[in-house]
Amino acid sequence: MSLKTPGEYVESLRALKIRAYVAGERVDSIVDHPMIAPHINTVAKTYELAHRPEHRDVMTAISHLTGERIHRYTHIFQSPDDLVKKIEMLRLLGQTTGTCFQRCVGLDGLNALYAISYEIDQAEGSDYHDRFKRYLSRVQAEDLMLAGAMTDPKGERTKRPSQQDDPDLYVHVVDRLSDGVVIRGAKLHNTGGINSHEVLVMPGTSLRAEEGEYAIACAVPANAEGVVFIFGRQSNDMRKLENGCDIGNPRFGIVGGETMIVFDDVFVPNERIFMNGETSHAGTLVNYFAAWHRTNYGGCKGGNADVLIGATAKMTKMLGTDRNAIVRDKLVEMVHMNETTYASAIGASAMGYRLPCGSFMVNQMMANTTKQNITRNVYQISRLSHDLAGGFLSTMPDARALDNPEIAGYVEKYHTASPQYDAKERIRFGRYIENMTNVASQVEALHGAGSPQAQRIEMARLAAFDDKIEMADRVIGGTDDVEGLPLPHKPES
Ligand code: SF4
Repeated sequence: MSLKTPGEYVESLRALKIRAYVAGERVDSIVDHPMIAPHINTVAKTYELAHRPEHRDVMTAISHLTGERIHRYTHIFQSPDDLVKKIEMLRLLGQTTGTCFQRCVGLDGLNALYAISYEIDQAEGSDYHDRFKRYLSRVQAEDLMLAGAMTDPKGERTKRPSQQDDPDLYVHVVDRLSDGVVIRGAKLHNTGGINSHEVLVMPGTSLRAEEGEYAIACAVPANAEGVVFIFGRQSNDMRKLENGCDIGNPRFGIVGGETMIVFDDVFVPNERIFMNGETSHAGTLVNYFAAWHRTNYGGCKGGNADVLIGATAKMTKMLGTDRNAIVRDKLVEMVHMNETTYASAIGASAMGYRLPCGSFMVNQMMANTTKQNITRNVYQISRLSHDLAGGFLSTMPDARALDNPEIAGYVEKYHTASPQYDAKERIRFGRYIENMTNVASQVEALHGAGSPQAQRIEMARLAAFDDKIEMADRVIGGTDDVEGLPLPHKPES
């Protein structure tokens, strides 16, 4: 069985010896760095749950390549049921960790490359798909964690990749050799980037025929020569280094440990290249990836919101407002918004359809609608959480005040509401809400898997307005015959 244990995941990262920078300094072992530990712990949970018999159906799948049981995070979607199970897995993991668990970008990248390598071969007579299947077999056998790297720095937004003054602002091929290529550039916002085994590099935009050097999709080991990881900052991240009740989520991260990855003339051998110059397929690759990933948000943010709603409900108990009808109605409104986005994700998955390669794509209109609703509902749910938890969220005392005997009594006395809960517990829950509703968490929900306007562009493309006008013409024009009762008037011609 190809399922890593959490311990094996950690030790395999330790063995990698990547070039990583945290807080501006070179880090020898990311596994031993306290700022990275919460993110590694979160991914470790994805490995742990796959070993639990009660979660086996959701967390694992049967490989269509080998017939072996594998982690669902390395699986190619074989049916709408697989797509639905993925969303169930994300909700479970969101409920268990209360944060982003990072492995979904790699999973959707695997699926996008599986589909596009087949389509390129059909159109161009290449052999990328078999090559990709050999790579996938190893990913499944070793249960690897993959970072999906898609977002280029983009430079001046009005200019295309080939028009930038600095060509490195989009990852591109700088040298073509008989046994591979050399790539240069950077990818930004890489969820789980610093604690992945490999990086899947993909174009982040559609490309024109003359932009062949930007049409590169490949798999790069995290410890390849020339790969540099620069860890980002999150709101309140230094609190992870503290003890006490100010930490928020004590074991897991706040968002996904987003990392900038630089490719400073990295050699990629042929067997790891899955697109190399086929510009006309870049847009489809991006669309496939985006549709799967946008659907995810109904699952993962659903699980995160379950924890947030729970923390908010507990705060109302601490305040003694939990029986108030208006308070309960606001909690119900949070649930309503959360279940709406979850239902959209399940719907997009259940309505999945078969791609030419045999794997399954979600309903793309519903996928984009799911993510569009997430960009609003996560903010609205946070707003209601702030509303119910009160101004205390922005004025909570420093936990260290409770360690100073000169003032601890005052803090305890004046920050205790319901006598069943002490001030420390109130602060602990308040800090979790603070972290899950702060800039890092909300912006991630807004821009992750594409900014709101990107979904609206897709929705406009898929909306088929002419078909809707035709429907309206038929109904309002009264031209559709029916064997029913005669009416006194005839439709106007
Ligand atoms: Fe997965 Fe959600 Fe994190 Fe994206 S934001 S990697 S879908 S948990």
